[in-house]
Amino acid sequence: MVAQSMDSLVSLSKRRGFIFQSNNIYGGLQGVYDFGPLGVELKKNIRESWWSDIVYKNENIFGLDASILTHPLVLNYSGHEETFTDPLVDCKDCKARHRADFINDSKCPLCGSTSLTEPRDFNLMFKTNIGPVADSNNFAYLRPETAQQIFTNFKNIMDSSSPSLPFGIAQIGKAFRNEITPRNFIFRVREFEQMELEYFVKPNDADKALEEWLEQRLKWWDMQGVCKDKLEIYDVPSDELSHYSKKTYDLMYEFPHGKEELEGIANRTDFDLGSHSQNQETLKINAKIKHNPDSKSKLGIQDENGEWFVPYVIEPSAGIERAFLAILNEAYTEESLENGKNRIVLKLKPHLAPIKAAVIPLKKNDMGLVKMATELKNKLQKDIDQRIVLENTGNIGKSYRKHDEIGTPYCITIDFDSLAEGTVTIRDRDTMKQNTIKVESISKHMSF
Ligand code: ATP
Repeated sequence: MVAQSMDSLVSLSKRRGFIFQSNNIYGGLQGVYDFGPLGVELKKNIRESWWSDIVYKNENIFGLDASILTHPLVLNYSGHEETFTDPLVDCKDCKARHRADFINDSKCPLCGSTSLTEPRDFNLMFKTNIGPVADSNNFAYLRPETAQQIFTNFKNIMDSSSPSLPFGIAQIGKAFRNEITPRNFIFRVREFEQMELEYFVKPNDADKALEEWLEQRLKWWDMQGVCKDKLEIYDVPSDELSHYSKKTYDLMYEFPHGKEELEGIANRTDFDLGSHSQNQETLKINAKIKHNPDSKSKLGIQDENGEWFVPYVIEPSAGIERAFLAILNEAYTEESLENGKNRIVLKLKPHLAPIKAAVIPLKKNDMGLVKMATELKNKLQKDIDQRIVLENTGNIGKSYRKHDEIGTPYCITIDFDSLAEGTVTIRDRDTMKQNTIKVESISKHMSF
């Protein structure tokens, strides 16, 4: 089951502390969001799940954390200065600005006027000044994708880690796009995080590697609760491909506002490494690239015969905010209970849950109960090294409702039998079944 509407996700996110509108005490800043105490945990768990699956599982994949501030030449030779644009249209009546491809029937989506300007290209990159003098020569871009700094570090990683093909470089970090119309909650924002892998292969192996990464990524989404039959694989037609791509699969997900891209998996060919290379004439390059007199590096590899070539690269690229939204949407469930009441429950995969367990003394402030609960909470916290909380409210029903809504897989109640007999009651979030067990055996009853 999924949420009925975006409103239910927005409301839950705010009510329980997953996501807040950014800068809201000053009226908010459009297209940026803050992640609260629970949101930050869910985001971290998504990030860690991706990192473990991509980096730790593969000996030939290396991590990177490169700078956000990016030299203008990087984004010049990558093609972003020229082509990273969206078509912008102004409404002459209400002055609103829209992305031309979001307009239906040549009417302003805000006021309905048909008096619109011709579309013109609008570059999505944010610029910022470097150093104390603000002039047109002293600026940097905030990176619009994490990928480019992977390409600029290609030689550093070759020299320091000596990998041989195929190998990958992975990075998770912020990216910035001055979207014309940020919208649909955290789906389209101006500041977001990307999880990107650049997987370098011999040119002849690229087609096969693209298919393999598609399969790998579908498996990963399944582990996060977004199963294969919820994703449509869109084989992007050639006239819609980005300037660097030979072939791209977009994984399309039915978000509450409609079906849109969750992740892109592209064959970027030798475009990027080739474009950032010096002495391009001494390299075998297939893509159409611009002559580069500025680069100080040759980003190629020598084959068995000593001939230089540029590897192809396969790029799975997913946004954490879109992952967050899809995962939240899949987990959100409203259930009618036998007692006639309803409950909202987030059926998150346990490894993603912001809080792994809540320990609840039956009676608020009862010294014996609270002592035992605190000791158990501390022990679990130490053993699992994830967030465990103590709920000293004395209201079990209210605690269950709260932890169902935020996706806590287990609630553990400490009652007077616990003190006498060393037992606890463990409740499963999804089945609501309660089991009385010996406290020592608790770890056997929980899995993450
Ligand atoms: P769209 O067509 O929806 O604008 P895109 O094709 O420009 O997306 P890519 O450049 O392929 O997106 O970026 C890779 C991933 O980064 C996307 O699949 C998405 O998950 C994420 N992403 C891109 N732009 C945004 C954004 N403005 N807000 C949130 N996530 C984004």
